[in-house]
Amino acid sequence: MAQEPVFATPEAFSHAEYDYLVVGGGTAGLVVASRLSEDPTVTVGVIEAGGYFPDEPLINVPGMPARVSYELIERSWLFLTVPQENVLGRPIFHPRGKLLGGTSALNFMATVSVEEYDAFETIGNEGWNWESFLKYMKKSETVAPSDPEFGDKYNAKLEEGVHGDSGPLKLSHSTWTSGLTEPLFKSLEALGIKPNPDSSNGDNTGSYSILGSIDPVTKTRSYSAPAYFAPNASRTNLSVLLNAQATRVILEKRDGSDEYEAKGVEFVSAIGGEENKVKLIAKAKKEVVLSAGTFMTPQLLELSGIGDRAILEKFGIPLRIELPGVGDNLQDHIYTTSTIEVSNELETLDVLRDEERSLKEIDAYERQEGLLASTHSAFAFLPVRAFAPAEDVERMKTSIRDAKESAKQSGQKRRLELLEKWFDDEKHPQLEVITYPGFFPAPGKTPKSGSHYNAVLVALMHPLSFGTVHISSSDPLSKPVVDPKYLSNNVDLEILAHGVRFTRKLHSEEPLKSLTKAFVEPAWDEELDDNEVKTHVKSVLEPVYHPAGTAAMLPQEDGGVVNSRLKVYGTSNLRIVDASIFPFHISAHPQTTIYGMAEKVLCFTLKS
Ligand SMILES: Cc1cc2nc3c(=O)[nH]c(=O)nc-3n(C[C@H](O)[C@H](O)[C@H](O)COP(=O)(O)OP(=O)(O)OC[C@H]3O[C@@H](n4cnc5c(N)ncnc54)[C@H](O)[C@@H]3O)c2cc1C
Repeated sequence: MAQEPVFATPEAFSHAEYDYLVVGGGTAGLVVASRLSEDPTVTVGVIEAGGYFPDEPLINVPGMPARVSYELIERSWLFLTVPQENVLGRPIFHPRGKLLGGTSALNFMATVSVEEYDAFETIGNEGWNWESFLKYMKKSETVAPSDPEFGDKYNAKLEEGVHGDSGPLKLSHSTWTSGLTEPLFKSLEALGIKPNPDSSNGDNTGSYSILGSIDPVTKTRSYSAPAYFAPNASRTNLSVLLNAQATRVILEKRDGSDEYEAKGVEFVSAIGGEENKVKLIAKAKKEVVLSAGTFMTPQLLELSGIGDRAILEKFGIPLRIELPGVGDNLQDHIYTTSTIEVSNELETLDVLRDEERSLKEIDAYERQEGLLASTHSAFAFLPVRAFAPAEDVERMKTSIRDAKESAKQSGQKRRLELLEKWFDDEKHPQLEVITYPGFFPAPGKTPKSGSHYNAVLVALMHPLSFGTVHISSSDPLSKPVVDPKYLSNNVDLEILAHGVRFTRKLHSEEPLKSLTKAFVEPAWDEELDDNEVKTHVKSVLEPVYHPAGTAAMLPQEDGGVVNSRLKVYGTSNLRIVDASIFPFHISAHPQTTIYGMAEKVLCFTLKS
């Protein structure tokens, strides 16, 4: 039996001096810590604000993903955005994992990647292209062979050369899929959306059953804690401190040097009981790596004196490195749900509301079988011309061109240039169709007893709305203010409204048509006008929870925060490795990107 990991005490952690200090034991942070500590001559310390919960069923059981974000609140940072002006003034709930494993413990386990990574390089980051991402994503994963019969029926195959076979993260296709999957793929095909049985080759358009981060043997979620930490927990050169919040990076400038050196990290931790919180210092000899995520990494930079001059002055924080891009450029995928009542002859996740069936499924799960051993897996990615009429495409494209032409900042101009080019290109999906075969849990909404549903989440892939994350006080323990400025560019709203109309069209196409009983929300009994569709979008809009970009990897003159070695400008040894370094968002689920990026960073940290 594996030994229980031993975690550092705050006192011991502050007395040690590590070669590498990693802030945040989340998705990226644990990859970095585990790869660095493969070298026994190197010492690595990890500071994680949350705890370790290897036995939590809500995390481990794949069949309950939609519950994790709402029910696992004591293991989450519960962010609420500022009221969103263009979303009926609604503040939007945004959970992030606060535990070892970070948000990889909470996510929906979907993996999708795309050749768009090439543009990370063309926008100014040498070496960050599809080929190198593929190399390191493969290094991170072990993909289970797919069952040929399942693969033929549900568009789930593995292409040679694009999957890893010996990495820590386990990926597999679901073994259960709903009765909606086959008719869904057929109706999509009738509308011109072709099956694409393996999207991992860089072309992610089409319909398919995705690979999930699920261990095919234990049928549990595979995420950074079991994949990267647990097998290496006994390494004597790897030390993890839990329940400790980093509050600033300690930066010093050597005489005559232009650059700051990160000497360590200040953190707050409880000693001998929650009521006794103290401030301590952890020391780093070689590097400090920030992996605190898209919302908390910019906060730590600002608290450390790195950021926009005006913001730091406002809160009385001495400016060390002026980088106006810190906390800017927040981009996020957002979705809007349509709820459709379908024939209850179809097996959907709704069967779990029946107590007897639910008990049977719990029993089946003990044998790694049944519905709880899988996650919802039927997806499609659509280029814009597949769901929006030509004249609207032209209008939206003109709008992007106008935004590009009026952009003041060079980095923003370059992003918008790309988005304009990609907008009506067949290879760049603008919409993701996620089907959740069942009633999608949401506060205040309840299903009809005995009814079965299809919840279709249409998600925007290349948001044109850019937001911010900034500190709201110099108190390091208060949360930063998150303002994604959702729908501030009207094209984002147009795309989602077209997505809602497409969902209706999809369910009006055979074979789905005959299985559809009622359009519940929005209720399409009558024609809805454009305004009504847009009001629906705004009233149910949610994030796909993929925020990125708040410490962008870009040339400094373009508003970048880190260079192409992920080093913060103006420092000799402070790196950022998490979703905040994305220069712009891509039409993929970010976890594979993040694992790949964190794997790749090893060649910089140990060599330069
Ligand atoms: C509900 C939900 C569903 C999702 N579904 C998918 C999906 O299906 N597929 C997909 O690819 N992606 C999905 N995502 C997104 C994906 O999981 C994240 O993009 C990714 O995990 C982020 O990784 P990260 O390393 O940037 O940050 P995180 O994994 O969030 O890691 C940050 C870590 O830093 C710690 N930390 C923060 N501040 C401090 C501090 N000051 N001191 C110490 N520690 C600190 C945090 O506690 C956390 O452990 C989903 C996200 C959510 C919330």
